[in-house]
Amino acid sequence: MITLRSAREIEAIRRSGKITAAVLTVLMQMARPGMATRELDRIAERGIRERGGVPTFKGYRGFPASVCVSVNDEVVHGIPGTYVLRDGDLLSIDLGTTLDGYVSDSAITIGVGTVSQPAQQLLDVTQECLMLGVAKMRSGAHVGDIGAAVQEHAERHGYGVVRELVGHGVGREMHEEPQVPNYGRRGSGPLLRPGLVLAVEPMITQGDRAIVIREDGWTVVTADGKLAAHFEHTIVVTERGPRILTLREVGEHPSAEAFRPDAERNMAAL
Ligand code: MG
Ligand code: MG
Repeated sequence: MITLRSAREIEAIRRSGKITAAVLTVLMQMARPGMATRELDRIAERGIRERGGVPTFKGYRGFPASVCVSVNDEVVHGIPGTYVLRDGDLLSIDLGTTLDGYVSDSAITIGVGTVSQPAQQLLDVTQECLMLGVAKMRSGAHVGDIGAAVQEHAERHGYGVVRELVGHGVGREMHEEPQVPNYGRRGSGPLLRPGLVLAVEPMITQGDRAIVIREDGWTVVTADGKLAAHFEHTIVVTERGPRILTLREVGEHPSAEAFRPDAERNMAAL
């Protein structure tokens, strides 16, 4: 069942999303070579709780941490631990906040120190995939329009689109209907209507799209060992178009500006 959210509920998800965005911003700014990934988890949990939220991931199906930290060939669901970040690593950070019973979910991938040009391009294209998908979230469009936009942009650059993991509805629970694949056909899938809240989260690989799961039962890695990137926002469909509920104040994709509710920008270029 697909749930449409009331204005009051959307406001609650937005308040949760502000915490998620703020803590992701702190983590982006803190991550540096020499830091163990479990330190990021400590900062994240404290940051979420200090702002009145609860880390949604902690204990979710037994996940042991407040953030997923996925480095280089790790696609998603990496467990923070003793790994020490190195110059040139690609670092994906994914976190969720529950506030007053409402969930927000967002992820970013950043370069630690100086990354190679191919790695930077993978980051840029994956973030563009997210924004192109978000731009499709207009009333009357379909879930398949989002996936088609993501897939087209990724594949145009020769990248792989992970099939096994998908975006999702989000609200009272982290994972609600509908599923939001990062591939698909225009005009297919459920209709988008005002009040629908989705987490859109392209997972894009530098090489082949095949993935495997490590022995820890969580960490998803590329089968060929090549890099992966992951960006995610929680977005609501409104009468006036998509509104990102996890928008950050810094380090955001330039086109995200266009989705600010107070922006008067022309969306046509997206
Ligand atoms: Mg997430
Ligand atoms: Mg998600």
